[in-house]
Amino acid sequence: MRWRWPRFWHRAGGVTTKVAPLEERFWARVRRSGPLECWEWTGAHAPQGYGQIRAYGKTQNAHRIAWEIVRGEIPDGLQIDHLCRNRGCVNPAHLEPVTQRENILRGESPAANWARLRRDAYTIIT
Ligand SMILES: [Zn+2]
Repeated sequence: MRWRWPRFWHRAGGVTTKVAPLEERFWARVRRSGPLECWEWTGAHAPQGYGQIRAYGKTQNAHRIAWEIVRGEIPDGLQIDHLCRNRGCVNPAHLEPVTQRENILRGESPAANWARLRRDAYTIIT
């Protein structure tokens, strides 16, 4: 584990305050539609189109956080690829960890991606 989820309750100087956990802040910025649809990130975006959220003291890609919230830690060295090719999408069913090499080789192959995407969506979201 590289880091831990933030705790709900934070004690500082003898005062206990409620800190919104990352998960709560994350879903507040997602426009969730049907399980097969793209879930649009409504927060900040990087120039490349990726959603952004601050977590663990730095700016993170929102789709990576989506994966971690739903599926768990991303194995070292893997990138989270968008099967739907929509960089602003954070639907975990549309995301898949791949090596950088796979990500480059895969390129744009919409037909193959969408076939896989439909299959995966049903197994993840029930
Ligand atoms: Zn999508």
